[in-house]
Amino acid sequence: MLPEIMDFQGILDDINAQIRPLLGTGGRVASYIPALARVSPHQFGIALRTCDGQEAAAGDSATPFSIQSMSKVFTLTLAIRSLGETLWHRIGREPSGSPFNSLVQLETERGIPRNPFINAGAIAVADRLLTQGDAKAEILGLLSSLCGDSIRIDPEVAQSEADTGFRNAALANFMKGFGTLDNDPSHVLDVYFNQCAIAMNCLQVARAAGYLCRDGAHPYDGSPLISETQARRVNALMLTCGTYDAAGEFAFRIGLPCKSGVGGGIMAVVPDRLSLCVWSPALDPTGNSHLGRLALELFVARTGLSVF
Ligand code: GLN
Repeated sequence: MLPEIMDFQGILDDINAQIRPLLGTGGRVASYIPALARVSPHQFGIALRTCDGQEAAAGDSATPFSIQSMSKVFTLTLAIRSLGETLWHRIGREPSGSPFNSLVQLETERGIPRNPFINAGAIAVADRLLTQGDAKAEILGLLSSLCGDSIRIDPEVAQSEADTGFRNAALANFMKGFGTLDNDPSHVLDVYFNQCAIAMNCLQVARAAGYLCRDGAHPYDGSPLISETQARRVNALMLTCGTYDAAGEFAFRIGLPCKSGVGGGIMAVVPDRLSLCVWSPALDPTGNSHLGRLALELFVARTGLSVF
């Protein structure tokens, strides 16, 4: 089918109709963050925005949810923009093949996280942003500019993360012990917990991710946010590391750069074509949205869109 004549609204409506009967039939909402455990799994949203500004949305696409680890794409973007290649002195670019909150590799690899999307890597990115200035304000400013709405942090989720984030505290202290963190771990964790607690809806995320399908150009004003090469690299990292130890399976079944969060969101990029976001809170054992993944599979099967 030619891209110009794809009826994206019809496609998303069909996917919504296929997914809704499955709500509540598989996966479990994240229970280790109490504020997320209270979210109803009976929700599904999907939205996209094309490079020429066409939008489509279906289901619970206007319901705000916790973006969690999807925030890591935007903090990485800020860090790449301000630090360039030096960012990679203390963060790797290899898939971890381990759960997102694993401590094991960090010990054997002496405080250098495998990639910026596992928790240790995102905490290291937050550290760099904190060294540069007011990280929380920078992140909210970027997201608000990218989607055209005022974006905020859900204070209840942020507090819940802080109250229960013992593994993240361990990761931050571990890196501090290895000398790979500049700032006080508690200050770095405050940035990290707050970025994870940002609330957005599917349409806002689809809009905000628009620079990744536009070679790094801002989705509304076209100004260069990051370079074309940098945007390509963010997409490459999303494909190889964005869904943790399920990244191989996502590449195999979906074939798009994706980034998930334990709030149940997954954002995906079709370079030069569109950015999209799906959301359904129940997660599979790898911490990725169970029905979000299925919806992406349906989208790719229906449209034939893939980077391969
Ligand atoms: N806030 C979550 C955590 O730190 C983010 C993890 C995720 O979304 N994969 O555990």
